[in-house]
Amino acid sequence: MARITATIKAVHADGTVCTHKRRSNGDGDEPGCTGRRGYTASCSACDWTEKHGQQTVLAYTRDQHLRSHLTQPAAPVSA
Ligand SMILES: [Zn+2]
Ligand SMILES: [Zn+2]
Repeated sequence: MARITATIKAVHADGTVCTHKRRSNGDGDEPGCTGRRGYTASCSACDWTEKHGQQTVLAYTRDQHLRSHLTQPAAPVSA
């Protein structure tokens, strides 16, 4: 069974994923970046997604979701 992952990504105010790098000197975001307003996570095994303004809170929710995949038995196949 493939390992299930849910990667947390930073998002802008309009919901697009931020791939800009933070300047190492603390001078703010890269040119073109509208600023990070929150975080989003999506599951590699299902269509679960979650958003939150705080990365730590989202990471906690993410971990709970990943745990649910381990504890819940696979749905019976009704053919
Ligand atoms: Zn950005
Ligand atoms: Zn999932």
